[in-house]
Amino acid sequence: PLVLGIESSCDETGVGIVRGTTLLANTVSTSMDEHVRFGGVIPEIASRAHLDAMVPTLTEALATAGVTLEDVDALAVTSGPGLAGALMVGVCAAKALAVATGKPLYAINHLVAHVGVGLLDDGVYGGALPEDLGALLVSGGHTEILRVRNIASDVELLGSTIDDAAGEAYDKVARLLGLAYPGGPAIDRLAKEGDPRAFRFPRGLTQPKYMGSPEAPGPHRYDWSFSGLKTAVARCVEQHDAAGKPVPVADIAASFQEAVVDVVTSKAILACREHGLRNLLLGGGVAANSRLRELTAERCAAAGISLAVPPFSLCTDNGAMVAALAARVIMDGRSPSELSFAPDSSLPVTTVSA
Ligand code: ATP
Ligand code: MG
Ligand code: FE
Repeated sequence: PLVLGIESSCDETGVGIVRGTTLLANTVSTSMDEHVRFGGVIPEIASRAHLDAMVPTLTEALATAGVTLEDVDALAVTSGPGLAGALMVGVCAAKALAVATGKPLYAINHLVAHVGVGLLDDGVYGGALPEDLGALLVSGGHTEILRVRNIASDVELLGSTIDDAAGEAYDKVARLLGLAYPGGPAIDRLAKEGDPRAFRFPRGLTQPKYMGSPEAPGPHRYDWSFSGLKTAVARCVEQHDAAGKPVPVADIAASFQEAVVDVVTSKAILACREHGLRNLLLGGGVAANSRLRELTAERCAAAGISLAVPPFSLCTDNGAMVAALAARVIMDGRSPSELSFAPDSSLPVTTVSA
């Protein structure tokens, strides 16, 4: 089927078009620049930017794919999780298109859609997802490890952050170090000049009381926490300031990054090993991080897990992943969503299509 997918859960307005498992267009407009002076995504600004960008992004995606709305067999939209106001813009646009064209509309889970990029022909898996698949999603809004038995119907959340997302921690620590938003790329660059062993920052939720055992996993065996790490960095900066010493920003950036990447990869791989998942897909904006890629590859290789990292344009939020997942849901014979569905900012991963 020819499917048009709309994404608006955070600060990217995305429209993607696929024919079955073939990618035809993936147009993205981001409001990131408008959030720079606030040091993080401001929901109201993101929502307004989606309103401005929706029609131009749609028009450009159709032109790139060389198709018209009449040609499209089905529409799809991210219905959650994400920022409520931002989701609302995409959902309203999709419903308006569905009513105007009479085409069926599929409400799609954003997190599962990140895994949907693996369905694309020239993507990392060449069109068909492997069995025993885990997905590690690391972005500004999410840090999650999923088990994907059947992407259209059987997805399970194995672990997630209990406070900040990893990307959010990068952005907050960058701010403490006087670096511009978004902090991820800046810290990634700066860390290359620093010593990752200069400071031993905490690895959240790794103490025995949180871990349990493989037979009886602890309450947070596969979960993450980054708020203690952020506080430790803040204290480190304060101590240098109080002592009148220059803040060793490169060493702090490198040590912070090592703490994040160490705990993200170790817990993800633990979850994969203990659930017999022999394939791992990496997604989300933090997948751009050079050290995360390096250590994930190293530890996956050591654990006998095959790692796949999609191109960056498909790791960050986009409409193509929404269209790709919807196409698969359609090919599985599922019915479209009722047009009365509402966006759900905390949609669970078990709901692939509402
Ligand atoms: P969502 O959480 O809904 O997927 P988002 O907009 O919050 O979306 P993305 O756009 O996927 O997240 O990614 C943005 C995040 O990725 C920011 O927090 C940014 O700091 C981080 N990031 C980008 N490049 C890097 C990098 N090289 N190293 C670390 N973090 C990075
Ligand atoms: Mg974003
Ligand atoms: Fe996302």
